[in-house]
Amino acid sequence: MEIIIAKNTGLCYGVKRALKIAQETRRKREGRVATLGDLIHNPQVIEDLRSRGIDSVEDMDILRDGTVIIRSHGVSPDVYAGLRKRKLEAVDATCPIVKRIQELVARLAEEGLEIVIVGDEEHPEIKGLIGYSRGRGRIVVSEKQVETLPHKKKRAVLAQSTQDLYLFERVAAALIEKTAELQVFNTICHSTQTRQRATSELAAKVDVLFIVGGKTSSNTRKLYQISRRILPRTYFIENADQIKSRMLQRANTIGISGGASTPPEAIEAAVRKIRRNFEQPHHEESRAQ
Ligand code: SF4
Repeated sequence: MEIIIAKNTGLCYGVKRALKIAQETRRKREGRVATLGDLIHNPQVIEDLRSRGIDSVEDMDILRDGTVIIRSHGVSPDVYAGLRKRKLEAVDATCPIVKRIQELVARLAEEGLEIVIVGDEEHPEIKGLIGYSRGRGRIVVSEKQVETLPHKKKRAVLAQSTQDLYLFERVAAALIEKTAELQVFNTICHSTQTRQRATSELAAKVDVLFIVGGKTSSNTRKLYQISRRILPRTYFIENADQIKSRMLQRANTIGISGGASTPPEAIEAAVRKIRRNFEQPHHEESRAQ
């Protein structure tokens, strides 16, 4: 049995940066330090942060004082205003790539365009982007949905930074039929595109593929969907304990990939679990960065 780890697996630049900012903030600031929402979709890492004095809160209303860290997904302008009103200190760990998408949305809104955003309605990045669109943003989740849109003279389309490239292309193609002048901005970040490509390449050459990551992580779920299109024997697991021997039956080559918030330790634990069960040497296509 051979185990191959997808290239570019591991925490993305934006999540690593946000973790570093949170730890530096804790060192420098007195009083309570909390992140607005989980910094990363990994319960162990969140627990570790908590033990170091960095809480995660879903609602700023429960905070009376202290410092609030904005996570890599970014937030809408309303949230900054809410923090100022409550006199809470804000430390902004929004990923610079997401910041650029927010600026793009704000500029397109100023130009008066309808902005189609291909993304998940409930995803925090999308909620932030909608906040910058001044009511001109429209979330689209599938090309089918485009059929219901009216014909327009001008429109722009862009994507959540972790969107499935294949879906984005299909939505953009469908919008061409509905728009005389369509501006297309591929805002899927480079790290996401490379990760998706590496996962689909791996899915094409292994018998079984495990996607490791939090079930609430949107980019990890997309990797799962991408891999499933190629390889039905794809499993979405949150941790190594979920690997069962029945999943590995008649498998000679096993692939492992993870999302932007999957720590390298989670990938290593999956490799150890498979090796412990089968006691075979493994080969790594790439180590997590
Ligand atoms: S996936 Fe890309 S855009 Fe999103 S936080 Fe990571 S590096 Fe930034």
